[in-house]
Amino acid sequence: MRQKPKLGQNFLVDPAASAAIVDALGDISAKTVVEIGPGAGAITEILAAQARRLIAIELDRDLASQLRAQFPSIEIVEADVLSIDLTTLRQGEEKLLVVGNLPYYITSPILLHLFSACDIVSMAVVMMQREVAERVLAEPGSSDYGLLSATARLYSRIERVLDLPPTAFVPPPQVRSTVLRLTMQPRFTELGVEPRPFLAFLRQSFAQKRKTLAKNLRSAGFASARISSALSESRMPGTARAEEVDLQHMAAIYKSLAAN
Ligand code: SAM
Repeated sequence: MRQKPKLGQNFLVDPAASAAIVDALGDISAKTVVEIGPGAGAITEILAAQARRLIAIELDRDLASQLRAQFPSIEIVEADVLSIDLTTLRQGEEKLLVVGNLPYYITSPILLHLFSACDIVSMAVVMMQREVAERVLAEPGSSDYGLLSATARLYSRIERVLDLPPTAFVPPPQVRSTVLRLTMQPRFTELGVEPRPFLAFLRQSFAQKRKTLAKNLRSAGFASARISSALSESRMPGTARAEEVDLQHMAAIYKSLAAN
């Protein structure tokens, strides 16, 4: 099989791992499943036998045509997953399940794409580079916690499903891999914030990792006095860094800044 490294093509050759990934989706017999990057079909084969409806999004033209021949009953969309509006894939009001051994070079954009579709995606079981998974899983206060962790926590409940060594793939990647299950549970209502401006506020808060939250907010244009009072109203020290602040306190600071 010809392999295109630029497209992140490392094919899974561990049948137990393929089975565990599909199992992590639960009972899919009545569900529509969207697979990102089906490749040579290691996961697709199991999904095709179990899902009510399977849509596979593959950018590589050669692989897409092989998949069409191999799995005539599934829908193959030959496209960049980031260009696909997931709402166009569903029938009626059903929610989609997403699965995939992701092309690692665009893991974060794909996660953000899935989060932005959280109203119509109920769960995603996705494989990524181990270090990225650690950032997604990270708790506030840990060295891995950052904008990606905060965003993932804002949208989903996150569980580690499986860790895999490079030998589970052909060709073996240079990195280790982890499968995560993201169960979509957006927290905007609970936190009392609007998605768009709160996400923009998070981006400002995490803009420079080495700076304090107060400094980042000053760089974003907030006046020092407003920042000091928002931090003290939210019972956060002036020296706090964004990576030490959980979402509840982040939302309190955001609302306090908006009110003053
Ligand atoms: N699912 C297969 C497996 O586990 O063996 C292949 C996984 S491989 C890590 C990633 C797959 O994503 C490749 O088939 C690659 O061609 C495809 N891909 C790369 N970029 C893509 C994109 N932007 N949109 C959709 N698929 C993409």
